[in-house]
Amino acid sequence: MTAKTTPRRILIGGKWVTCDRIIEVTDPQDNSLIDTVPAATVDDVLEAIEKARSGVRIAAEMPVHQRISVLNRTADIIENKKELYATTIAREGSKTIREARKEVARCIQTLRVSAEEARRINGETIAFDQMPGNDKRIGYYYYFPIGIVSAITPFNDPLNLVAHKVGPAIASGNAIIVKPATVTPLSALLLVEAFIEAGLPPEVLSIVTGYGSEIGDALVTHPDIRKISFTGGLAAGTEISRKAGPKRMSMELGSNSPVIVLEDADLDQAVEASVSGAYSAAGQNCLGVQRIYVEEAVFETFRDRFVEKTLQYRVGDKMSEDTDMGPMINEKEAKRVESWVNDAVKEGASLLCGGQRNGAFYMPTVLTNLPEHCKLSQEEAFGPVVTIEKVSGLQEAIEKSNSVNYGLQAGIFTRNIHQAFHAIHDLEVGGVMINDSSDFRIDSMPFGGVKGSGVGREGVRYAIEEMTEKKVVCFNLAQPGM
Ligand code: NAP
Repeated sequence: MTAKTTPRRILIGGKWVTCDRIIEVTDPQDNSLIDTVPAATVDDVLEAIEKARSGVRIAAEMPVHQRISVLNRTADIIENKKELYATTIAREGSKTIREARKEVARCIQTLRVSAEEARRINGETIAFDQMPGNDKRIGYYYYFPIGIVSAITPFNDPLNLVAHKVGPAIASGNAIIVKPATVTPLSALLLVEAFIEAGLPPEVLSIVTGYGSEIGDALVTHPDIRKISFTGGLAAGTEISRKAGPKRMSMELGSNSPVIVLEDADLDQAVEASVSGAYSAAGQNCLGVQRIYVEEAVFETFRDRFVEKTLQYRVGDKMSEDTDMGPMINEKEAKRVESWVNDAVKEGASLLCGGQRNGAFYMPTVLTNLPEHCKLSQEEAFGPVVTIEKVSGLQEAIEKSNSVNYGLQAGIFTRNIHQAFHAIHDLEVGGVMINDSSDFRIDSMPFGGVKGSGVGREGVRYAIEEMTEKKVVCFNLAQPGM
C-alpha cells in the first residue's frame, strides 16, 4: 500500500467531506506515511450531530428486514475485500498480518450476529392485574431506539471494536457517529464505506476523524447525544463520565488481567495460552495477560517453560507471515513501557527475559519478584510485559488478583472443579476463563468489566440492550358503569 495523494474524507450525514487540517497516518514499524485523514473540528461534529437528528427517524423507521439486509451485505462486502481490510489493520496499527486477518474474520461475525440479533429485540407482556384494582388492565413493554449514539474507539482493534458499536446501533434502529482513534482511523473509514455501499441510508452513520482532545467534548456533552459508547483507557473514560452529564454510557476500559496456575494444571496448556495471551497485539489488548500467579509446587517449571517459549517469539516485520509480534503503536508508548520495566527492576524486580527496545519495538518481557507498589503491579502495562509470581495456593492468588482497581477477565488453570468454582465465585471480574488465559472472547458473549475496567457490557445483544429504552404500554379495558 502506498501513500495516497488525495486525502481520505470523513462522512457527515451522507456527504464525504475534507477539512482544512489533516492528520498523517503512519506505520509504527518504520514511520512511513500510509495516508492522511481530516482533522475534524467542533463545527464538523456539530454538523454531524445535526444531520444525525434526521438519521434518528430514518434509522428507527427502517424495517427490521432492511436492517438485517444492510448488516449482512456489509459483512459480504468486507468478506470480498478481506485482504484489503487486513492489510489496513496491520499497517496502521500494531498487529501482524496474521493477527489482522483474525480481526477481519471477527468483524464479519460481529456484523452477522448483529443482523441475527435485530430479529430478537423483543419486549414482554406485563401482569398488571397482580396489583389489586388493575384487573382490567393489560399491556406490555417494548424496546425503542435511544437516538444518537456517540461511539469513541481505541487503536488496538481498529475494525472490530468499531463494528461492536455500529452493528448493534443499526440493528436496534439508532443513528451513530463514530470517532476512531487518531492513530488508526483507516480501518474505521473502510468499515463505514462498506455500510454505505451496502445501502445504509447515509444520515444514519457519520464518521469524524480528529483529536479526542479537540472534538471529544462536543461528542460527549452535546444534549442531543443520548448514549456514549466508549472503549479506551481508564483516564479518558473517567474524564468522559465526569463531563457527559445524565446520559446513557457504556465504558469498556482497560485491565491488567490475572491468570492463576494451580499445581494440578496442565502446564503445557497453561504456558501455551498464557504466552499468546500476553503478547498478542504486542500486549496492547484489554484482555492481555499481565499478572500470572503460580502455585509454589509448579512455579519454577512453569516460569522456565514460559521464558523458554517467550524467547522463541519472532518479533519483526508485521507483514511477514512468520512474525509473531510486531511493534507497539508508537515509540512513545514503547518508551513508557521501557521506563515502567526499568523502574520495577530498580525497585527490586528480577528481569527474566526481554527488556530491550528498538524504536517502537519492545521485546517480550518477563519479570518476577515485583514489589506490590510499583506501577507494573497496579496499572495496565498495555505492552508485551508479564509478571510471574509464586503463591502459596488459590486463596492468595485470588487476593492478589483482586488487589488492583481493574477487573475485566481472569483465567485459571486447574483440573479441580471445587477450586475452579471457588475462583469463579471470588474473582472480581466480568469473566472467568477455566483452563484458558484471560485473553478469550467470542463476539456474542457479554463482555465488560467491574471496578476501573468499566461499566456496561458489549457483545451485540448486550450492546443493543444499552442502546435501547423500554416503553411501557397499558390498556385500561374497564368500562365505566359496567
Ligand atoms: P484512549 O487514549 O483512552 O483513547 C480512546 C479513544 O478516546 C480515542 O479515540 C481517543 O482519541 C478518545 N479520547 C481520548 N480522550 C478523550 C476525551 N477526553 N474525550 C473524548 N474522547 C477522548 O485509549 P487508547 O490508547 O486508544 O486504547 C487503549 C485503551 O483502551 C487501553 O486502556 C485498553 O485496555 C482499552 N481497551 C478496552 C477494551 C474493552 O473492551 N474493555 C477494548 C480495547 C481497548 P485520540 O485517539 O484522538 O486520543
